[in-house]
Amino acid sequence: MGSPVSTADDLVELGRRLVSLGLSRGTAGNISVRTEDGEVVASPSGTDMGALDPDGLSWLTSTDGGDLEQVTGPKASKEMPIHAAMYRRFGAGVVVHTHSFHAVQSSCLPPWSEHCAIPPYAPYFAMKVGNCPLIPYRHPGDPELGALIDGVDLDFHAVLLAHHGLVLVASTVDEAVTATVELEDACRLAVSLDQVPLARVLDEASVAELAQRSLRPWGQRPIKHL
Ligand SMILES: [Zn+2]
Repeated sequence: MGSPVSTADDLVELGRRLVSLGLSRGTAGNISVRTEDGEVVASPSGTDMGALDPDGLSWLTSTDGGDLEQVTGPKASKEMPIHAAMYRRFGAGVVVHTHSFHAVQSSCLPPWSEHCAIPPYAPYFAMKVGNCPLIPYRHPGDPELGALIDGVDLDFHAVLLAHHGLVLVASTVDEAVTATVELEDACRLAVSLDQVPLARVLDEASVAELAQRSLRPWGQRPIKHL
């Protein structure tokens, strides 16, 4: 394949860390890493992401249209269209998709706003995640989920898929793990405070300032399409 071995190793490490943190159980969720040359290595369909075999990963390549096409290795997850959508928007990086409990729980609630499915209660959510729009429900593996992510006219690094889970993109494995932890914890807060009348979100100016300082997108600022 000519890809750096470290890419497969990155994927294995990412899966192991997400499972050790309780963010993926059984065979739920999937992860991928894309190199600058457009190759993507992904967790195969139906595998435990905590025990990935570096020699048994799925390898894909980006088509001219930005879809992901399998090249070699075991069959990749049917959910690759959501990974493809994140790469169409961000290029190289790391994509995490989990069915982590609190993300799924939050994704069943009405969205807090158009640009963010959950309220910003704590600073690190703004600093590590930022905007996180809710994508309408489609069945897992439906390619339309990718088109729905493409259609969001906002700057974001993460989304919640309604009744399903979270998806985020990051530059490195460390950043991906941190963002997944923060988003899952923010979802946990959102659910636990949902019926607490006196619960207050952080004020808008503080959230915007935190996000801006941490280079996270916040608010309705549209993406500048090139
Ligand atoms: Zn899924």
